[in-house]
Amino acid sequence: MLSVNRRISDIRSQVADWRSSGRTVGFVPTMGALHEGHGALIRASIEQCDRTVVSVFVNPLQFDRKEDLLTYPRDDKADQAFIEDLGAHALFLPSVEEMYPQEQWTILTQKTITNNLDGNARPGFFDGILTVVLKLFHMVHPDVAFFGLKDYQQVAVIRRMVADLNMEVEIRGIPTAREPNGVAYASRNKLLSEEDRPHAPLLYQALQATEARFHQGVDDVVILLDGLRKALAAIPNARIDYADLVDGVCLQLKTEKASVGDVLALAVYLGSVRLIDNLILSEKNSFLS
Ligand code: AMP
Repeated sequence: MLSVNRRISDIRSQVADWRSSGRTVGFVPTMGALHEGHGALIRASIEQCDRTVVSVFVNPLQFDRKEDLLTYPRDDKADQAFIEDLGAHALFLPSVEEMYPQEQWTILTQKTITNNLDGNARPGFFDGILTVVLKLFHMVHPDVAFFGLKDYQQVAVIRRMVADLNMEVEIRGIPTAREPNGVAYASRNKLLSEEDRPHAPLLYQALQATEARFHQGVDDVVILLDGLRKALAAIPNARIDYADLVDGVCLQLKTEKASVGDVLALAVYLGSVRLIDNLILSEKNSFLS
């Protein structure tokens, strides 16, 4: 049976019960409109921990455009059924008033890792994420928290927060779940127009083509990114927000030679819908080993 908790005090006592009987607690924070990408995280948590808590909260603090917040897809009923079917144990579904009963004056910021990609493109975005994730960790008190590598920069930023603040939670990154056509599952995919939807697979194809060139021996970042940006610019109705190569730890822009472990990351608008995706450069033929 799924326990549905709207109050912080309820999720706290639920988790405290589990922990006092020696059970490990996994946590999957989400913004709802759940899909197979979230499913991969929830399954990992159920497999790796005794109890799994999923939160659904569309965090106003991380939206710089009010319109994005208002159009963000929401479906609490479907989310609850999805979580229940997977076998998670608790849902934490707080209201905005529960999370932010007064103006949030304490905001977390992080240096360096947030300088590029979404940190640069969306002012205040990671402040909002760090602040809400820290609050959620204090409310849920998990042993392990699961995040998707689709949001590579988010995982890096949260890992660093946990290290910097000596937090007692382990962060596990889960590989991006994709539709058979390669499109990374994302809540925003629902917002794509009929006309733009068929072009969504081209984003990941462009990333893969760039990695293929790297495997052919091209490691000059300027050449690789030029090819990537040209491929993205050729997609009808597409506008590139960024398409960059960064190192995998500090997420600083690479400008000379690409190496294994670097991350190709992009944010592209298809029509009015902003999609992000990334690819971690692998060893050539690493799938054979
Ligand atoms: P969101 O609801 O978009 O805030 O996402 C909640 C969590 O699900 C984050 O850790 C995301 O990285 C993760 N996630 C979203 N889409 C995917 C995906 N396609 N594959 C793996 N994880 C994902």
